[in-house]
Amino acid sequence: ELGRVFEREGHELHLVGGPVRDAVLRRPVSDLDFTTGARPEATEAILRAHCSTVWTTGADFGTIGGMFRGEQVEVTTFRADAYDRVGRNPVVRYGDRLEDDLERRDFTVNAMAVSLPGHVFADPFGGIADIARRTIRTPASPESSFADDPLRMLRAARFAAQLGFDVEAPTLAAMRDLAPELSRITAERVRDEFVKLMLAPDPVAGLRLLVDTGLADRFLPELPALRMEIDEHAQHKDVYEHSLQVLRNAIGLETGGPDLLLRIAALLHDIGKPETKEVVAGGGVTFHHHDIAGARLARRRMRELRFPKADVQAVSLLISLHLRFYGYADGEEGGWTDSAVRRYVTDADGQLDRLNALVRSDCTTRNRRKAERLRRDYDAFEERIARLRAEEDLRAV
Ligand code: ATP
Repeated sequence: ELGRVFEREGHELHLVGGPVRDAVLRRPVSDLDFTTGARPEATEAILRAHCSTVWTTGADFGTIGGMFRGEQVEVTTFRADAYDRVGRNPVVRYGDRLEDDLERRDFTVNAMAVSLPGHVFADPFGGIADIARRTIRTPASPESSFADDPLRMLRAARFAAQLGFDVEAPTLAAMRDLAPELSRITAERVRDEFVKLMLAPDPVAGLRLLVDTGLADRFLPELPALRMEIDEHAQHKDVYEHSLQVLRNAIGLETGGPDLLLRIAALLHDIGKPETKEVVAGGGVTFHHHDIAGARLARRRMRELRFPKADVQAVSLLISLHLRFYGYADGEEGGWTDSAVRRYVTDADGQLDRLNALVRSDCTTRNRRKAERLRRDYDAFEERIARLRAEEDLRAV
């Protein structure tokens, strides 16, 4: 229908990017993104005539949004960006051809389009074949693509985490070579991609890519630093692999959907270890107060990435308490029952099993004392976070 409207006005309209990819993958399609030859002013006029609401917040980038027959749509003018290598954002330039618009997109799987109303499928860079091979690859040379917009390297890791695809070898090699270029990207853009990666079904796959390519060194160097030399005699576990495992455990305990702060805290709970490692007589190692050091490091990195203050505090507290609790009272009077500890996440040193036993035990008297202590910790934690959030809300008003 929207296609006919644009056709009547003499403009091409194509469904493009994420929705085409997700339809091919038979994943739920969220937003409907379109691309058109119409300039933003013309798009706005058309949408105003046919949509219940229209928003122009993305107009500087050529995007006009609207509600069309109950569906949220975003229509972007064909892009043919030029890049300002010094500046941090692409310089927007409009184009006249669908091909040019698709070529400037990040990956082949995102560079497919379906014309409306004719339903002609355009896949000039082999996106369908790459979906079949479960591969992430840039449409043109990966070096020039990543030099144009280094954020695309993070996006590659994000899509690996979201789709479960591998990054093709030349694209991966370019990520290794160009990882230092990520420093040209603003903290907010890096944070937004990192958040999407962490919330994906398999963040561990994306994180491994970030660490292996050197991208993590640019904004979270404490993560690769977890690959410490392990003293064989100390029989200490590999802290990096352990951290990824704790993240998996945390995901396994989620009941209400992805929990960003818990996931970040799980990943970072041991980042104070490299800094506090000491070899003691006899060949053992200690990590005195590494939880406090880790909380401080996490605060610093999250502030740099411009996370909201309350999020920084929540992760910092979870790390300093070393994830020893993550429960909440279930709302019933005195209701510290098994559901109260369901979301309790802990270190993987066998504590997880103990925790599960605790949950299953339905809080017998023996466990009640422990549960009460956890609740006191948790209440203090909740109170602090609530206060911070209220402060932030007040400032926003
Ligand atoms: P989601 O909406 O789940 O985040 P998506 O694939 O829709 O996934 P967006 O970040 O919304 O991703 O971007 C929409 C489309 O715009 C992408 O499919 C891609 O074609 C294009 N795109 C977005 N960012 C870039 C970029 N930095 N470089 C090139 N193309 C991009």
